[in-house]
Amino acid sequence: MKPMSEQETKKQIDKLRPICTCAACPSYKGTSETTLLFCYTAKSSKIKNQKGCICGGCPVKKQQELKHIYYCLWGTESEQTDKKKS
Ligand code: SF4
Ligand code: SF4
Repeated sequence: MKPMSEQETKKQIDKLRPICTCAACPSYKGTSETTLLFCYTAKSSKIKNQKGCICGGCPVKKQQELKHIYYCLWGTESEQTDKKKS
């Protein structure tokens, strides 16, 4: 992902959140989580167990050419990319 200003990031998040598919994911279902778009925002404080990740089929992942999965548990796209580099 290209670096974006704070305002651009907020706009991007508002645009992408409605197409995030996390709510249909087995790791998400049954938790009290209500937020979405973990790939851009932050890890979840409510999702604790890996029961599968459906990011692979998500239109956001495809559109934005995201490389990682399990954003709710492992952190945003940038965080996971940084971790790999270090
Ligand atoms: S890639 Fe995963 S976290 Fe990101 S919007 Fe899609 S389903 Fe949600
Ligand atoms: S990031 Fe992946 S594992 Fe987490 S809720 Fe979304 S689809 Fe499920």
